[in-house]
Amino acid sequence: MRFSPISEARFARLLRYSIFLPVSLLAALASTLVWQVHGLLEAADRVDRSDLTIARANHCLRLLIDMETGLRGYLLTGNREFLEPYDRGSAAIESEWRLVQEAMIAREQIARVEGLIGATEDWRVYARRMIALRQGGALANGLEENREGKRLMDEIRRRTDELIRIGSTLRDERSDSAQRNARAVLVSAIGLSLLLGVVLAAAARAQLKHVTGSYGTALAELRSLTSTLEQKVEERTQALQQANEGLESFAYSVSHDLRAPLRAMQGFAHALREDYGDRLDDTGRDYADRISGAAERMDVLIHDLLEYSRLARVEMELRPVSLQSALEEAMEQMSERIRSKGATVTVEPPLPEVLGHRQTLVQVLANLVSNALKFTAPGVTPRVTVRAEELNGTVRVWVVDNGIGIEPDHFERIFRVFERLHGIDRYPGTGIGLAIVRKGVERMGGRAGVDSQSGEGSRFWFELAKV
Ligand code: ADP
Repeated sequence: MRFSPISEARFARLLRYSIFLPVSLLAALASTLVWQVHGLLEAADRVDRSDLTIARANHCLRLLIDMETGLRGYLLTGNREFLEPYDRGSAAIESEWRLVQEAMIAREQIARVEGLIGATEDWRVYARRMIALRQGGALANGLEENREGKRLMDEIRRRTDELIRIGSTLRDERSDSAQRNARAVLVSAIGLSLLLGVVLAAAARAQLKHVTGSYGTALAELRSLTSTLEQKVEERTQALQQANEGLESFAYSVSHDLRAPLRAMQGFAHALREDYGDRLDDTGRDYADRISGAAERMDVLIHDLLEYSRLARVEMELRPVSLQSALEEAMEQMSERIRSKGATVTVEPPLPEVLGHRQTLVQVLANLVSNALKFTAPGVTPRVTVRAEELNGTVRVWVVDNGIGIEPDHFERIFRVFERLHGIDRYPGTGIGLAIVRKGVERMGGRAGVDSQSGEGSRFWFELAKV
């Protein structure tokens, strides 16, 4: 996979921006909202304080009216009981006005309360004087002096009304400002969220575009690599096929041409024994025998080689073949060897029909049974079993023996031409039998293999399509 360094750097930058930008926006959004909500809370607090001021001012006014009523009752009747609301109010009124002041923010309002405290004190001076006069009996009913009292109390009322009126205006202004604050918070939250959404979407889109682009490039490169690879494999396969075909035809013609001089050797060795046998001494006769034996072995070798190369070259038409009858024919060819070795060959039915080439199938079976009879330890009577099993539309044929077995390391090797695991004196052979088995099975569209443990017999198998 090949990515240009520029695109990787750009990708890293893109990644940084797409994280950095939304995070900073989120931070800005959060701090703006915190600041605005703080403002909103302050505005709400101001509204609350205005409400409290107005309520407390009203309370002071009520207290004063009670005091005035009590004073009047006393002045009229001289009964001290009437003075009770007056006494109670006197004890509390100044601190009540101070409470009004405490709830205030506007300086001019605080100054107005200060004025009210003064006016209240003026009225109380008047009230104390009147009480003293009444007590001294200087007043019959104290009402002639009351004009001054009315004037002082009217002044208090006027000032309190003014205080409450201005307080109400302030409260309305503060309430408006709080509402404006709330709206600003809402607008900012929505606006910034939208902005954040847009930035995130843009970042995601850019990322996606890059990733899709890279993916597309990688895919295109992969496709082109695959097609190059396929082309190369095709070329190699063709070259190999040609080389193989050349080799096979060379082997065929060489083997074929070797037969003529071989026949001559065999003929002359035979003539030597027949016509000049009495004139040869023992050594001469031994030499003649050896020439015959070697020529015979060479004949078998050439025969096998020709058989192998014929298998590779012949046009093979596949048709249903009875495994049972192919095996019977192979056993017929082996009958003399089976008898001479006292071997038993057990066939476990059923042996189904397979798709194959009859003559090749007979050859494959004959080679496997022949090996099973041959590769036994000295003194061991060969016991061979042939059976078949069906696996997903194929038939697997097993040829199992009680012979010397094969090490797993050699499982592949022994299927190659001339590969033998033993000396020719101990187990004679050409090393072509299993190569013929594999080539033949492959030409019939199947495969062949072996499963064995040294000393525990071998289990050769091949698979062909089931009919
Ligand atoms: P050949 O039988 O002529 O030696 P093959 O190609 O048939 O040649 O076999 C190759 C080698 O595989 C044999 O030489 C032998 O070492 C081993 N082999 C084949 N069949 C068996 C078997 N049934 N048991 C043990 N070894 C075997």
